[in-house]
Amino acid sequence: MTDSGGLAASSPQVVEPSTIDVDREVGMTLTWADGHTVALGLVELRVNCPCAGCHELRRAGQPVWPRPGSPEPLRILDARLVGAFGIGFDWNDGHSTGIYGWDALRRSTA
Ligand SMILES: [Zn+2]
Repeated sequence: MTDSGGLAASSPQVVEPSTIDVDREVGMTLTWADGHTVALGLVELRVNCPCAGCHELRRAGQPVWPRPGSPEPLRILDARLVGAFGIGFDWNDGHSTGIYGWDALRRSTA
């Protein structure tokens, strides 16, 4: 109930990066028009998956990845833009429900 971080009062402008560089074996690098850059590794992205299921796992103190039987190394099979909101990944462990919003990605400290 309190994990939105008070976004309601922030800028209504969607902060979409100007450059989105996805390396399926390494991770993702985002660059915004103002020069702000965020680079995130595959595991970092996967364990911070924003979907409800992974959120529950983290809340319960359980690992999001690797799970029993998880393929290693972790890979991105496919990436898709979700409107102007963010990006989603198909992971090689069969997971694909998380949508990573640009706003949250920009605020991540990497
Ligand atoms: Zn997830």
